[in-house]
Amino acid sequence: MADLTKKFDVLVIGGGNAALCAAISARRAGASVLVLEGAPKFYRGGNTRHTRNMRCAHDAATEILTGPYTEEEFWDDLLRLTGGQTDEELAKFMIRESKDILNWIVEQGVRWQPSLGGTLSLGRTNSFFLGGGRAMLNALYLTAEKLGVEIVYDAEVIDLQIEDGMFLSAKLKQPIDSAVEIRASALVAAAGGFEANIEWLKEYWGEAADNFLIRGTPYNRGSILKMLLDKGVQDIGDPTQCHAVAIDARAPKFDGGIITRHDSVVFGIVVNKHAQRFYDEGEDIWPKRYAIWGRLVAAQPDQIAYIIFDASVRNSFMPTLFPPIEGTTIAELAGKLELDPAALEKTITEFNAAVQPGTFDHTILDDCRTEGITPPKTHWARRIETPPYLAYPVRPGITFTYLGTRVNKQSRMVMKDGKPSANMFAAGEIMAGNVLGKGYAAGIGMTIGSVFGRVAGREAAKNARN
Ligand SMILES: Cc1cc2nc3c(=O)[nH]c(=O)nc-3n(C[C@H](O)[C@H](O)[C@H](O)COP(=O)(O)OP(=O)(O)OC[C@H]3O[C@@H](n4cnc5c(N)ncnc54)[C@H](O)[C@@H]3O)c2cc1C
Repeated sequence: MADLTKKFDVLVIGGGNAALCAAISARRAGASVLVLEGAPKFYRGGNTRHTRNMRCAHDAATEILTGPYTEEEFWDDLLRLTGGQTDEELAKFMIRESKDILNWIVEQGVRWQPSLGGTLSLGRTNSFFLGGGRAMLNALYLTAEKLGVEIVYDAEVIDLQIEDGMFLSAKLKQPIDSAVEIRASALVAAAGGFEANIEWLKEYWGEAADNFLIRGTPYNRGSILKMLLDKGVQDIGDPTQCHAVAIDARAPKFDGGIITRHDSVVFGIVVNKHAQRFYDEGEDIWPKRYAIWGRLVAAQPDQIAYIIFDASVRNSFMPTLFPPIEGTTIAELAGKLELDPAALEKTITEFNAAVQPGTFDHTILDDCRTEGITPPKTHWARRIETPPYLAYPVRPGITFTYLGTRVNKQSRMVMKDGKPSANMFAAGEIMAGNVLGKGYAAGIGMTIGSVFGRVAGREAAKNARN
């Protein structure tokens, strides 16, 4: 066990990708490093445990990436998906640095694999972790331990002593080996967003937040973010902005992970609790648009919706953890979903009548569309007419929030007066809002954590030595 009474060069708060990248990078730069992970060891690694891939720029195909993804293309994607709500200088810096991360992360023990069926559309842009996020994390922890990084679990930080933008010490919830106050010359805050804090979400979403499901760790309650903002760090990002997808309404409240997500929207229609459609299910290629459905469902009454499809497409998408609910007739299905049978029959009859002839191809924006109904389904529209009829109930699944601490290119926090902090750095979700004002590009959460984690660790080590 580490001697927690000594003063460390660098204290890292958090235990996910951003924290580990920072800890390794600081240690490699010669600093003594302590990692405080609030979760027990089994649950270490926050949301990173659930991840599958990372988006990095590269100029040529590699063994696992099918073609180049240039800095310019990455920037164009980010600009479009955020609607321009991104810090251009920081985002371009991140994209440039991401090129190097592809190799750097391998040097830290992480292994890549090519994308598999169901994720092939990301095969050129995103590198997949062999064994998923948990294996990736295990590799980072192993490397950190071998390098001599001290790691303590069940070590929730409940207060930070900060004076004039300078970190002095962190207070633990429970004493560890009689230590409560942890001192360090520099701080890296990598403790995630506030997505698991329903009360905080309610400040912006009202009572609706009670119906949100949290896809990842229950430990990201935003306490470190709140302390930093309360103690003079400048905030960035809209608190209502987050990554949210439609997930199975039967999923657990926390930590359901990737297998509770539904990718079947484009194969059917989506109705609310009044059995009414509310958005174009065929608006764009699924990987570009899946992340809008969390917010769309959040805006519906009681934050519930139902993906309705028929037997002809039941094997067209990735198998789901929860089986679909079935009915031999639409009325029977409606009964099981507790929807008004007449209303659901009317919606489906009108939809079927509006479907135009076309050639179905879900890999392109095909010509299967509706005419004369609102909202339209602009692609992949086919009649729902082959029993049994099937449905998935869905709720908003919050992945992570975007409100964060403002940082500069050194990953150094910026104070409310615009001055850089003397010794405080941030990486990962806790500063994601610098790059993500809104929207999302698959795999960018891990890019933000790896790039800024590596930079934050290096800069914090340099800071501590000076
Ligand atoms: C289901 C799911 C799938 C995802 N898939 C992908 C993907 O494939 N690719 C991608 O790029 N992104 C993905 N993401 C997003 C990605 O998980 C995050 O962007 C990324 O993991 C954030 O890393 P982080 O280190 O900032 O935070 P986390 O990995 O969440 O780590 C935060 C850490 O802080 C600790 N902590 C919190 N408060 C305290 C405290 N007070 N004291 C001490 N410790 C504290 C937590 O215990 C946790 O260990 C996914 C997210 C989910 C939920």
